[in-house]
Amino acid sequence: MFTFTNSVALITGGSRGIGRAVARAFTSAGGTVAINYHQDHEAAESAVGDIVANGGRAQAWSADVANRSAVRDMVAAIRDTFGRIDYVVTSAGIWSANRLVEFNEERFESTLRTNIHGTLWPILEAQSALAAARGAIVTIGSTAGQRGEDDYSPYALSKGGVHALTKSLAVELAPEIRVNCVAPGWVRTDMTDDALTGERVSRALRGIPLGRIAEPEDLAGPILFLLSEHARHITGEILNVNGGSVLCG
Ligand code: NAP
Repeated sequence: MFTFTNSVALITGGSRGIGRAVARAFTSAGGTVAINYHQDHEAAESAVGDIVANGGRAQAWSADVANRSAVRDMVAAIRDTFGRIDYVVTSAGIWSANRLVEFNEERFESTLRTNIHGTLWPILEAQSALAAARGAIVTIGSTAGQRGEDDYSPYALSKGGVHALTKSLAVELAPEIRVNCVAPGWVRTDMTDDALTGERVSRALRGIPLGRIAEPEDLAGPILFLLSEHARHITGEILNVNGGSVLCG
């Protein structure tokens, strides 16, 4: 259904979870991926190995997305290696509890730096390449950014910021570059592994009309759709992929 032959996508956080599923799907559709990660070299190698073993083209780059100069160097290296960047998917992110009663300022700031700055820097640094390719961007928001999340207010704040950033940049970067966002609910990845155990699974399921926890692959199709030609008249959209748990734009 999707064809991305001769195009290159930078996928931040592409070594694990949702980003990894997107990288795999994008290469299955003929594209090349630059997988960004931060610290887990083994996961990045495994993601690249998996794609190459299936006939795809991928290379991994380590860079902290919160650090603009590291992102700038990474984008330059990707352009040197692959010659172009057509798409950016900003999946790198962190989710850490931070209750007001025992508020941790350092964790608050690292959440905002990773999730907000870490969304903006790759977009800014890849902007000229994307404009040349008339490309597209998909950011990753969250139900938390739409309805808030108790005990995780900095995370909810960061994801509300991603939604606002998406809409703002969609207008600023038009008509050359489309910018959309996918807002997942619960997805089974390393991020949520500890939280999705025992009674907490049934509690989560009670809030999901479709009655299932998403797998990373459930996000890959909608993200590829937003990158693809099929979405050529869509920009500034927040697409809910949450089993019906939050029904708003
Ligand atoms: P995950 O499985 O924990 O994977 C996180 C990825 O982000 C890893 O590749 C990690 O690389 C990378 N990363 C983290 N901090 C980074 C940094 N500073 N610089 C560069 N890369 C960094 O997470 P996920 O569940 O796939 O989540 C992906 C996105 O979806 C996040 O933005 C998350 O907030 C959002 N989301 C997830 C859920 C869910 O239920 N899982 C729900 C709603 C939204 P390293 O391993 O090398 O650090």
